Amino acid sequence: STWWGNVEPAAKDPILGVTEAFLADPSPSKVNVGVGAYRDDNGKPVVLECVREAERRIAGHSNMEYLPMGGSVKMVEETLKLAYGENSEFIKDKRIAAVQSLSGTGACRLFADFQKRFRPDSQIYIPVPTWANHHNIWRDAQVPQRTFHYYHPETRGLDFASLMDDIKNAPNGSFFLLHACAHNPTGVDPTEEQWGEMSYQFKAKGHFAFFDMAYQGFASGDPERDAKSIRIFLEDGHLIGIAQSYAKNMGLYGQRVGCLSVLCEDEKQAVSVKSQLQQLARPMYSNPPLHGALIVSTILGDPELKNLWLKEVKIGMFCYSGLTPEQVDRLTSEFHIYLTRNGRISMAGVTTGNVGYLANAINKVSK
Ligand code: PMP
Repeated sequence: STWWGNVEPAAKDPILGVTEAFLADPSPSKVNVGVGAYRDDNGKPVVLECVREAERRIAGHSNMEYLPMGGSVKMVEETLKLAYGENSEFIKDKRIAAVQSLSGTGACRLFADFQKRFRPDSQIYIPVPTWANHHNIWRDAQVPQRTFHYYHPETRGLDFASLMDDIKNAPNGSFFLLHACAHNPTGVDPTEEQWGEMSYQFKAKGHFAFFDMAYQGFASGDPERDAKSIRIFLEDGHLIGIAQSYAKNMGLYGQRVGCLSVLCEDEKQAVSVKSQLQQLARPMYSNPPLHGALIVSTILGDPELKNLWLKEVKIGMFCYSGLTPEQVDRLTSEFHIYLTRNGRISMAGVTTGNVGYLANAINKVSK
């Protein structure tokens, strides 16, 4: 037998597999509405103007040195302001343990590993549905998973009553994964009042809220408004964790730039937590990449570029169409249209050229 004779092919990733299948399809009329990235009207990748300008400013002026284990201090500082608020007392009081992460995925994974190490008997409650990779992340970190109600298919809205029941019925002191805004894949977010009620119940139950904020700016068009869920929990005195990503809202997908932060009791605890996050990072990837962090800190550190970014942050990306897995399969096999089987359509993949073809195909399969 060979060394790896026991290795079977891994299951295809439900999201990344869509793009693979799209690329392999020779049909000239093929359409990819699975991709979670900005595209222009010809379906070509888009780079934000603020990013282009930041790159021009950086060009030739940066070295290639290692970042510290915790990443770019400047980038992390600016990133915390977006989540916790420009004048956050928690930032001033140095109560936030924060490190640069390998985008949002890396932030979630680092947190899951931290949770496993320091709360070894805990579980994580994950909404139904969610971004499929959440399940992989906590599974590989060996944190047992539970689910909580979120989406109500009949109303295409939030199943708030069941969600609140699940919060109440979870054992005291449970960990919950919450999408801070622009819930993926449904696009359905709680209202401010509902966030307030959730926060109150989290308090009563002593739960921990971990916010995954992969789309700050995409729900309302304004990053400040999209942080409202987090601000409500902060005002109520919760100690929370946050995963942030610039993949979508700065279009920096391949740069892998993000941030994991954990709000602590005091500065001393934050120093300890940060040192442990760094110790988790060291044997995994040692330290995070430099270039994306430089782009972000250049943009957010300059008022003019930051304003340009705020203008460029587009609203929305995904549309939860309600198409069934069988209808999606027909779209792909009969019309060469690619999307995830949960029916999520990326509006960035819809162009003037393919919108008619797409609409007609959807009409055919949903009749
Ligand atoms: N969380 C959610 C809910 C997402 O949709 C995504 C992006 N698909 C991520 C995290 C992380 O993406 P990235 O690692 O590219 O930042």
